[in-house]
Amino acid sequence: MIKKEIDDTIKNLIKNAGSSDLYDIISYLDITIKPCQGKSFYCQLNDHKYIYMDNNLVENIKPFVLAHELGHAVLHKEEIYHYSPLSINKTSTEREADYFAFRILGKSIDPTLDYTISQYANLLAVSEDTIKYIMN
Ligand SMILES: [Zn+2]
Repeated sequence: MIKKEIDDTIKNLIKNAGSSDLYDIISYLDITIKPCQGKSFYCQLNDHKYIYMDNNLVENIKPFVLAHELGHAVLHKEEIYHYSPLSINKTSTEREADYFAFRILGKSIDPTLDYTISQYANLLAVSEDTIKYIMN
């Protein structure tokens, strides 16, 4: 999946949900958020969608993690259904979910700052890997 497709998916999602707020979009998609101990993930059970959120997460990274899991819900239906630990797509789906989270939260890289990758990662509270993926 290319970045443009993810951008278009986000645009349509915001239009259909009538809001760019993460919680509005999650409720529009009829996804239930549940607390969890030690990990965050997306899953579908008996035709209902759930995002489990690690309740040990530091407050300022919660929106990114929530948006990342929403990214899986929206972008990776197939991969989640057919999840296999041997899947060669595992890394690319993680990157796509990170990119989705970055964009849906309205984050952007300001090139005039001329920061290093690690400085941008710190500034935007995302991983260096996410910054690298967005930049190339
Ligand atoms: Zn993920």
